[in-house]
Amino acid sequence: MTTATAAPPVLVVRQTYLTWILSKCPKGAKALIDGKPGPSYGGAARGTAVHEFFARYNEWLYKIGRPTDWTQAGTILRDVLTDHPELTAEERDDVADQARRICDTYLMDLEHFYGSEEHLEYDLTLTDGRVVRITGTLDLLLLDSIEGVATIRDCKSNHQLPPDSAIAKDLQLKTYALLVFRNMPEVVAVKGELWFPRYGMLLPRKDEALWTEEDIDAFEAHLRDILKAFLDAPHHEAIPGAHCQYCPLRRLNRCTLWRSYYGTTPPPVVSAEQFQKLGRQIIVLEQRLDVLKAHAKDWVNEHGPAAIGSGEYAEVFDFHKRESEELAASDLLAILENNRCLVGDQPLDDLLSVKKTTKAYKNLRYHQELRSAFDDVMQPKVTTVFGHKKPGADDE
Ligand code: SF4
Repeated sequence: MTTATAAPPVLVVRQTYLTWILSKCPKGAKALIDGKPGPSYGGAARGTAVHEFFARYNEWLYKIGRPTDWTQAGTILRDVLTDHPELTAEERDDVADQARRICDTYLMDLEHFYGSEEHLEYDLTLTDGRVVRITGTLDLLLLDSIEGVATIRDCKSNHQLPPDSAIAKDLQLKTYALLVFRNMPEVVAVKGELWFPRYGMLLPRKDEALWTEEDIDAFEAHLRDILKAFLDAPHHEAIPGAHCQYCPLRRLNRCTLWRSYYGTTPPPVVSAEQFQKLGRQIIVLEQRLDVLKAHAKDWVNEHGPAAIGSGEYAEVFDFHKRESEELAASDLLAILENNRCLVGDQPLDDLLSVKKTTKAYKNLRYHQELRSAFDDVMQPKVTTVFGHKKPGADDE
């Protein structure tokens, strides 16, 4: 679907690259939009294959009119894997696992199914009349035409699960919501969901990521400003981050900032040898991080706060204040004592903790006359903390 426009677009930008402009790196975004070849990385083909399986499985379910049916799943999976000979054996297993999960956990909402792999476009007119075409392909679009509520469900094949609160801020979903609003005038609200077939989990679990026309109008106004600045910029700002690994400019002679991020996002470990390398890297990086932080602290002490990047996504180095409420145990006991008629007996073990590192505690704990009284009530407690230490070394 494409909305009608008066002028031809000066820029056509896919949702992925728009997210680069908005929240990652404008310089990298420019390179991607200009079609500079990006580096190939393992996860890309795997993600595409999982998406393709999901789309073809949806088509099959829609065709037979059933919410779930795995009789064709094997054939669909075989076709998808045949189309992606570049996948390693391990990636093929991963795609097959995720496909199995999809068949086990996915129930198609036939009543509201609108489409899968739904391609939408919107021609956004900037304040000076130039037009930018935004495009996106939605994994799954559901429409409740009575309530006027559309649901966008994006399938994620990656390992990380974001917190619920991140879904409403997800720029990909928000951009899709804009495309839905501008292409489907009957829609009054758009719900965003991320689906992780690897875990059979749909996010958000508790809250709702919901956008109204008003939210999307404000987002569109923001896009207008950002895209105008992007088109007019003589040089685009380079902001390094985890995304550098996907950037066509990640070469020393193309982007000097790439070096600041290189090597910090390795792929998952698949062999004992790789673990040896990874373990050593962790130890060295921890030591290096202490030194880097000490240098950064010295700089901020001398020059004041310093921002990395700009706008709302800037990371500011400073002595940030953390506020929390402090309450002396004796004050809490006094409040409980004075209000016993109101709150009754309270679980003191849950409310008060004993600080075992203080001198006052240690004097009591090792008091000759009290030692056995403490020994009698002490409970051994064992917890595990992931990390590294030398055999026999003290716990921190
Ligand atoms: S390598 Fe990183 S910092 Fe440099 S342009 Fe690419 S994304 Fe931006």
